[in-house]
Formats: sequence, structure tokens, C-alpha cells
Amino acid sequence: MSAGFKLLIDGRLVDGATEFDVINPATGVSFAKCPKADIAQLNEAVAAAKSAFRAWSTTSIETRAEKVSSLATALEARAEEFAKLLTSEQGKPFNQAMQEVMGGVSILSAFSRARLDDKIIRENVDATIIEHRTPLGVVAAITPWNFPLALLMNKIGPALVAGNAVVAKPAPTTPLTTLLFAALANEILPAGVLNVICDENDLGAALTAHPDVRKVSFTGSTATGKKVMGAAADTIKRVTLELGGNDAAIILDDVDVAAVAAKVFQSAMANAGQICVATKRVYVPSSLYNEFCNALATIADSVVVGNGLQDGVQMGPLQNQKQYDKVCAIIHESASLGEVIAGGEPLKRDGYFVPPTIVRNIPDDAALVREEQFGPVLPILAYDDLDELIDRVNASAYGLGGSIWSGDVQRAIGVAKRIDSGTVWVNQFLAMDPDIPFRGSKQSGIGAELGEEGLFEYTQPHIINALTVSA
Ligand code: NAD
Repeated sequence: MSAGFKLLIDGRLVDGATEFDVINPATGVSFAKCPKADIAQLNEAVAAAKSAFRAWSTTSIETRAEKVSSLATALEARAEEFAKLLTSEQGKPFNQAMQEVMGGVSILSAFSRARLDDKIIRENVDATIIEHRTPLGVVAAITPWNFPLALLMNKIGPALVAGNAVVAKPAPTTPLTTLLFAALANEILPAGVLNVICDENDLGAALTAHPDVRKVSFTGSTATGKKVMGAAADTIKRVTLELGGNDAAIILDDVDVAAVAAKVFQSAMANAGQICVATKRVYVPSSLYNEFCNALATIADSVVVGNGLQDGVQMGPLQNQKQYDKVCAIIHESASLGEVIAGGEPLKRDGYFVPPTIVRNIPDDAALVREEQFGPVLPILAYDDLDELIDRVNASAYGLGGSIWSGDVQRAIGVAKRIDSGTVWVNQFLAMDPDIPFRGSKQSGIGAELGEEGLFEYTQPHIINALTVSA
């Protein structure tokens, strides 16, 4: 096995039952082997977590927080090594990979400062009523391939501080940074508190249905999220589902076109568009439509696309062959329904490279507008009436994020309040912080990550309702 990546089960770094290739999306060629767990190893991992939970959940929160803080310190100390591996498996440019790693450090650090104090609901001469929170037990943490490390930290940070034990399962095309983190964590955490298993999309169903898993924290597509919710039903597992989105950027008629177009472009094309809260459709007043489309096309033409480990590269490849094929098919269909004004053809080289592609004059019912493209292709749509536009935006089954752009912040906030999404940014994009809860509306998810609510998701609240007079 090239870099000796191992599963982590019960404090032991072990081989899988078999192994599979991990492809570098910038070359299309395998660069490492990943150990693949079988059902027996999945069951061992859950049993190890269940057993470790007994002691871990009774240590003080300060002790657990100290361990999570040590994870942050250890990750930061090896940030460049993690970032390089992240670029190799995920494709994003090295500087963006560093941002993801350091984002993971700050998430762990933030949760290491979190505490779960009892909440006094009522206290008077007659009664004391307290809300007290305890950890749940074994948490399954399932992650996708677009931010494999940061999204894992969103789950591990709060789950461990709250006193849970975790079985993590990364996406099969980006398992390596999770395995590197597992080896690092094994030096810090007691055996069984964190277990990591890998699969080829074949163990998720068994993990989410496992009777000893009390909670599933899942980030991924809405289609898989529905399966997770179904699998959780039998034992009424707690679920946090962070799912897909089709975020709209709404441009109001008072903007500085050049400045706003540059920011909207970044909001759509960072990580080659593979962000749950990327801008996936842009709505521009008819009066500014041509100017805005031209500005976006000019920026698109200037982007340096290539291997993220090379200096000066601004956009990497799509992460995997399946996503590349999907995005190419959407571009192909869009070219027949609208007008492609930048990009449009995959690069003729090895790897999964698609240049930033801008499409105008495309109907609302095109797949590019209705579905989550999850790639560097952006539809620009015109509007005349703001009320009608809000109905068009809210007609989506998704409700994850979105943004409003205006010279008048109060006006923009008024529009933002009418968008049925978990988060709406005004005059900025992708502004996430460990202390701001993040959640989806409609089919974009259930439950929150980050913030105090993101910690509460890993706890069971108990009401203690005591009469003050003695029995
Ligand atoms: P995916 O749903 O295909 O896979 C996500 C994870 O689920 C992987 O680890 C996969 O192996 C696992 N899985 C597969 N089948 C399963 C099953 N039956 N039960 C349980 N787990 C199973 O998603 P993806 O293609 O890896 O990621 C892209 C999607 O993730 C996009 O839709 C994107 O919007 C979404 N996403 C959402 C957020 C958010 O916070 N809302 C963040 C990042 C990505």
C-alpha cells in the first residue's frame, strides 16, 4: 500500500479486508490504495465505539475538550502535509486546500471551548426545573468528497466534546485525508473513541441501520440523505442531514456590476463549483443583464485551470469521473437550450477538467437551473419583477443558502427574509464561522451544524423537574 493508509478500529491501525485505488482527479491515475472494510470490520468499529463510550462519556467535558484541542494543535502542525494530500485526492488548488485544513483546525478549536452547562428553566421556592444534556452514544459520521476534512471536523468536534464515540466513513473517492487524520487522532484519543472505516459506497446502508448507532450525522446528496432517513427510522435514530442546494444569487438593480460580478463569480466557481452553498443560478434585472453576463464571461475566460499543486492555478478539476460526466452532460444539454458565452468544452488533457462555463438565455425548466449542477457551470437568468422572482427562487425543492446583492443593505435584508433557505448572505458569500449555526430548509436538510445548536445535536436533553419540598 503506497503510503500505508490504514483503517482505525478500536485504537488499532489495520488493513481492510481488501483495498481499492484512489484516483488523482488532476491526472485520472491512481496514486494510492485505500483499505476497504467489510461488514465484520464495520461491526467491530461500532462495537469498539459502544464500548469506549462508557468511559469517554463519564470523563469531564474539560478533559474531552482538551483532547479535541490537542487534535487541533496536531492537525495545524501538519497542515501542509494534509493540504498536499487533500489537493492530490480532491483536486482543489493547494492554497484552497490549506484554507480547508486551517478551517478544520478552527472548527476543532472552537468546539474545544464549548461547554454543556445545565439550563435552569425555573428556580423558585417550590421547584427547580433543569434541562440537562447527556451524550447520545455511538455516532456515525458520513462525509462527501467536496470538503472531506472540514466537514469531518464539523462532526467530530461537537460529537467528541459532548462525550460521544464516533464511527466515521469518508466518501470513497476522497478517503485519504480522513485516514491520515485517523492515524494522528490515534496518538491522542483513547482506543475506540474515534473509528474510521472506508468503503466503496457499499457500507453506508449497514452503518446507518446499525442498531447500536444512536445518531447519524450525514453530509452528502439529498438522494442519499433520503436513504439515511429511511434507515434511521427503525430505531428512531437522531439524524443531522446536511444535503444538496441550488442557491440563487439575486442581483438588485442598484449594484456596481463589475465589483459584484467578480464576487458572484467566486461564489459559484470556488472549488470548481463543488460546494453545497455555491451560487448555482444567478438572477439579474433585465436592465443590467447584458452588462452582468459580459462581466462574468470575461472573468471566466481569465481563470487558470490546472493541477492544483502547480503555482498560479486558480481552479482544479472536477473531483471524480462520475461528476465530470454529469457536468459535461449538463453543459451539453445547456448548449442546446441556451447560449454558452464562456467555457463550454472540457479541456483536452488527462484528468477531469472543465473550464468555468457561463450560460445565458436559458429557460427556468432546464436541468442547469432546476437541479444541482455541482460543477463550474453557471446559468444567468433575467427578471423584471422582484415579487415574481422570489416565487421563482423559492419554487426549488432545495433551500440551503443564497445571496442578495445591493447597494442598499436594508433593502437586501428585506429580500433575504423572503428566501426560504437556511442561510442567506447579503453582499458576501460562503461566510461560515464555527459559532454560526448552519442548516438547510426543505430538502436541503434537517438539524444544524456548527454553533451551540451544532453541539446540541449530539446530546439528549433531559428535563429534571424537582419539587423543592422534600418527599
Ligand atoms: P453522496 O450522497 O453520494 O455521498 C455522501 C456520503 O454518503 C459518502 O460517504 C457515501 O459513501 C455515503 N453513502 C452512499 N450511499 C449511502 C447510503 N445508502 N447510506 C449512507 N451513506 C451512504 O454525496 P457526494 O456526491 O459525496 O457529495 C455531494 C453532495 O453533498 C452534493 O449534493 C452537495 O450539495 C452535498 N453537500 C452538502 C453539504 C451541506 O452542508 N449541506 C456540504 C457538502 C456537500
